[in-house]
Amino acid sequence: MKQQICILGSTGSIGTQALDIIEQHSDLYETYALTANSRWKELAAQARKFRPAAVVIANEAYYKDLSKELADQPDIKVYAGAEALNQIVEAEPINMVLTAMVGFSGLEPTIHAIKAKKKICLANKETLVVAGELICGLAAENRVSVLPVDSEHSAIFQSLVGEDENEIEKILLTCSGGPFRLFSSEQLQTVTAADALRHPTWDMGAKITIDSASLMNKGFEVIEAKWLFGVPADKIQVLIHPQSIVHSAVQFADGGVKAQLGIPDMHLPIQYAFSFPKRLSLRAERLDLFKQPLEFFEPDMQKFKCLGMAYEAIEKGGNMPCIMNAANEIVNEGFRKGACSFVGMGEIIEQTMAKVGFDENPDLDVYLQTDAEARRVAMDLMNERLGKR
Ligand code: NAD
Ligand code: MG
Repeated sequence: MKQQICILGSTGSIGTQALDIIEQHSDLYETYALTANSRWKELAAQARKFRPAAVVIANEAYYKDLSKELADQPDIKVYAGAEALNQIVEAEPINMVLTAMVGFSGLEPTIHAIKAKKKICLANKETLVVAGELICGLAAENRVSVLPVDSEHSAIFQSLVGEDENEIEKILLTCSGGPFRLFSSEQLQTVTAADALRHPTWDMGAKITIDSASLMNKGFEVIEAKWLFGVPADKIQVLIHPQSIVHSAVQFADGGVKAQLGIPDMHLPIQYAFSFPKRLSLRAERLDLFKQPLEFFEPDMQKFKCLGMAYEAIEKGGNMPCIMNAANEIVNEGFRKGACSFVGMGEIIEQTMAKVGFDENPDLDVYLQTDAEARRVAMDLMNERLGKR
């Protein structure tokens, strides 16, 4: 029996690479459902090629276009809207759900998938940033595995195979440093979104590429690692590693350090989440260790304040990481549209974290309210600054 996969965000960077894997291993995997936000033409083309039972377009404005495009495909059901995402993940034949959509929008479908006892291949790290405790609790309750797709977390996960009985002393979380690693604080004042979108080692979607430039992405990954591996943030050390070859490492009680290395390519972590505990063949470039040195540096949290804020947010707990995430989604988009400066992003996130009400024990409703409120506050702060420019 082939494993039936639902991809949330199949038209994105992770989604399309996941489809490569499914194509390479069509004897093992099949798409049951493909979903996208607005790129309906691409979604329709994917549906023609991979023949899922259903497609969902989250933005309902494109339902008509997509339905018309697939009118000659009676076997492929077409749905639209956020609620349809929540329902499709529950479909009986689905074995695993790859969460490859962007941002807070991943939270609710992931909750539905866990409650329906589907294996989760988690790319959407924002889900764990916002509601790690809730998600981990639900996963434990429903005996559902949450397998990391993020390359660093996949590396940690791979390093932990066979170590069930052994305590983690420290996680070494690597980070390319992004395109502005060597920039001065003055230079950071004038960088543009176009500069930030030129990532030195990884080719990813726009939102995460900006998060990588501000190191907010690494902050998110500290929080993601805390929840996935049950390690407190003060035992998670970020190392700037410009070559992106050592994808992360784990240190044990005897001082031994295990790492996973490879070229910077998401196909392997995506495939490993699908196939764990098995390793499948993969047609991809191989690592040549003679090609580059391997360097490691300490991150500069004065210059890149988002990383420090993420440590503070997880230390505070409750809905604070949710506030930080929502503010980041606003300023990230604002920066891409020229409505916010690079340095302004960190400042607005910090102010939003100070302004929005703190809740120590949030449930889903509180997360939804917090997200909406923090977006409003961050948007007001951003507009206020724009007015003053
Ligand atoms: P992307 O922008 O390339 O693709 C996002 C996908 O999600 C698209 O298919 C889009 O249609 C869909 N989508 C966006 N907003 C949506 C919404 N509101 N409702 C429903 N669908 C929506 O993004 P990406 O780079 O593939 O990243 C996806 C997730 O994976 C993010 O959480 C990111 O942090 C994480 N991730 C990505 C990479 C990478 O290499 N790209 C690496 C690690 C983690
Ligand atoms: Mg990563």
